[in-house]
Amino acid sequence: MSIEVKQIPCLGDNYGFLVHDTETGATASIDTPEVEPINNALAEQGWTLTHILNTHHHFDHAGGNEELKVQWGCEIIGAACDAERIPGIDRRVVDGEVFQLGNAQVKVLEVPGHTVGHIAYYFADDRAAFVGDTLFALGCGRMFEGTAQQMWGSLEKLMALPDETAVYCAHEYTQANAAFAITVEPDNEALRQRVEEIARLREQGIPTVPTSIGLERRTNPFVRPQSTNLQQTIDRVGSDPVAIFAETRKRKDNF
Ligand code: ZN
Ligand code: FE
Repeated sequence: MSIEVKQIPCLGDNYGFLVHDTETGATASIDTPEVEPINNALAEQGWTLTHILNTHHHFDHAGGNEELKVQWGCEIIGAACDAERIPGIDRRVVDGEVFQLGNAQVKVLEVPGHTVGHIAYYFADDRAAFVGDTLFALGCGRMFEGTAQQMWGSLEKLMALPDETAVYCAHEYTQANAAFAITVEPDNEALRQRVEEIARLREQGIPTVPTSIGLERRTNPFVRPQSTNLQQTIDRVGSDPVAIFAETRKRKDNF
């Protein structure tokens, strides 16, 4: 591992993350949900903020950009296609682009759907992905701006990462997601076990983030259109993956 990750509870149910390159000291805040807890974490670790990596423009992700930039003089990186909505953006990045955070390599993945300009940051050498509001533990982001086709394409792109990839989602929504997931794939034994495990963890206030690509592949109905049990439950037997995903998303919206 060349990076260290510090997870920071922010606002009601957001997570901020600090990514620290141990060789150079470069430190990025993945999104800026809330300034004070981010600054507290930096002080605790003795780290200097050099970068902000924004996943998307929503206030609970970019609301602290300007204050942190004034304080630290850090460089703000965000999606080129959404630059006008990212406060204080300095560097505009596009799909597939690789840049350095100190000595760590970061790959940009465009994952539209929740917003049209949503991106994820993938640290391949460290097997870590920061996915914002695109993929959640047992869930996925609401489609505020994109289509089901776009969101499905984005989820597929993330699911193509190695199983062991740690997935850092931006919200602790897992228990609510679990309550829905079990209703659409009730026969999935791995999901049933996970739902129990999540209840145990949350009872003790323990985060369920990060998750992993492999765990989501086995238990998250939004990325399991191939599941016969899911298809039967939502009345989409034999439909194409986009239609199955769209129906699952619709049912969650109304759950
Ligand atoms: Zn959002
Ligand atoms: Fe959010």
